[in-house]
Amino acid sequence: MEKSLQLEIVTPDKLVLSETVEYVGAPGYDGEFGVLPNHISFLAALQIGNLHYKSQGKTNFVFVSGGFADVSDNKVTILAESAEKAEEIDLGRARQARERAEARLQKMQDEVDYARAQAAMQRAMFRLKACETCK
Ligand code: ATP
Repeated sequence: MEKSLQLEIVTPDKLVLSETVEYVGAPGYDGEFGVLPNHISFLAALQIGNLHYKSQGKTNFVFVSGGFADVSDNKVTILAESAEKAEEIDLGRARQARERAEARLQKMQDEVDYARAQAAMQRAMFRLKACETCK
């Protein structure tokens, strides 16, 4: 029985993280799920949120903008459109993104793509939340 598992987070731009970890908690589309070593294989859709993992007893957070999690052979692979380790998030940029999304949502004119603005708002909120964990 393995005591650890591999976590890899990939976006179209880069490999965000590749680490040996003890636990992964991810924002599944149907709710948060956890993966321990020796977990059975499965594939899950993710929603915008913060993934967390335990490595050497420490909990770390990574923002993910949805995507998919593939669990197989004691490895968790996350494929996301964008993802950032909490400590790499630009706080000012996330605040500005939240302000822009707020303004768009308040306008609520026909041409405004409400779902798009809502998703932008969610990304900004979860990035800001991830930043909180670095204080
Ligand atoms: P913005 O309006 O600020 O671009 P967004 O939510 O539309 O925010 P995304 O489309 O999710 O941005 O991401 C585009 C790229 O910018 C990705 O590579 C993502 O990792 C990066 N990114 C977005 N916001 C931040 C941030 N606050 N800090 C660091 N990187 C960010």
